[in-house]
Amino acid sequence: MRMYLCSLRRRKAAPVLFSSIALAAVLAFAGAVGCKSQTSGGESSAGAASTVAAAPAASADSLPADDAPPASATGGFDGHRALQQVIKQVSFGPRPPSSPAIQQLQAYLKSELTSYGCKFDVDDFQVDTPVGHKTMENILVKIPGDKPGIILLGTHYDTKILPDFVGADDAGSSTGVMLELARNLCSQHGRYNVWIAFFDGEEATRVQWSDDDSVYGSREMAARLANSGDLPKIKAFLLADLVGGKKAHFKRDEESTKALVDLMWGIAAKLGYGNIFVQETTSIGGDDYTPFLKRKVPSVDVIDLDIVNDVPYWHNQNGTDTLDKISAKSLAITGHVFLETIKEMQSK
Ligand SMILES: [Zn+2]
Repeated sequence: MRMYLCSLRRRKAAPVLFSSIALAAVLAFAGAVGCKSQTSGGESSAGAASTVAAAPAASADSLPADDAPPASATGGFDGHRALQQVIKQVSFGPRPPSSPAIQQLQAYLKSELTSYGCKFDVDDFQVDTPVGHKTMENILVKIPGDKPGIILLGTHYDTKILPDFVGADDAGSSTGVMLELARNLCSQHGRYNVWIAFFDGEEATRVQWSDDDSVYGSREMAARLANSGDLPKIKAFLLADLVGGKKAHFKRDEESTKALVDLMWGIAAKLGYGNIFVQETTSIGGDDYTPFLKRKVPSVDVIDLDIVNDVPYWHNQNGTDTLDKISAKSLAITGHVFLETIKEMQSK
């Protein structure tokens, strides 16, 4: 995903993201996880899916925190349900593109969305990656509105090719949030269309992130929406990624569209989440919003990529992005802020 540890030194993002001490810590960590080129890795482990969700040891630290406020306090967004969606995804095991596990997840996503009454388009597409030819699938929920404008939400649902990497936070958390948002929103009818994108192939297939080897799904969708003429109708693209950590904090991403950051972070502050949607800035350097930003679509990324303090398990080669890192409260707060942002946009 996006910011690659070994490339920190050449990214303009680094001085903004980290103090020099913290940067040194990250670079040390980067060394620890190994910044050598790696041709592939964990895809063969996808078949080991069912072993991953084996019962954890019964200590509180080894379990996700089901600490969500009630749905009545978060605009109808049910953090407990979002957590269950994360647990379900992890139960499939590592979910890299084209793997049997991601095919199981695709079937599950479509079945869930259908059960909520959502209408959606499915785009199966083929790509050549550095690790071979892959079939990928984007799923795009379309909730109609009265006017042509579109509020686009998005997450990726593939996981990074790393041994035993089950991606509870990356990207189980944001996918769980988007499923719960779909459950809330598919029965509603607003002024504008609300579309919810589930992207395949966000992660680079190699260890190192590059423009050519990343965001396959969102590149495909942005190109398709440009061809169909829908792209200019998108008023805002609200992206979530790594939103479920027990220590979640979301900094203001400087590559995101400032007006959207102001809107979301302002809403979060009004809801009492100023300690989660914090005022510090960061620079993510690449995510599923990149193909949309390149095409001038106003976009914002809600993401916790503070590897030093919050998400040391991010792309960790020992497969530590596991359920014990997840908090239903973080999922609920994220979902609440998304719902209120959509409500605000629908009123204008
Ligand atoms: Zn990632």
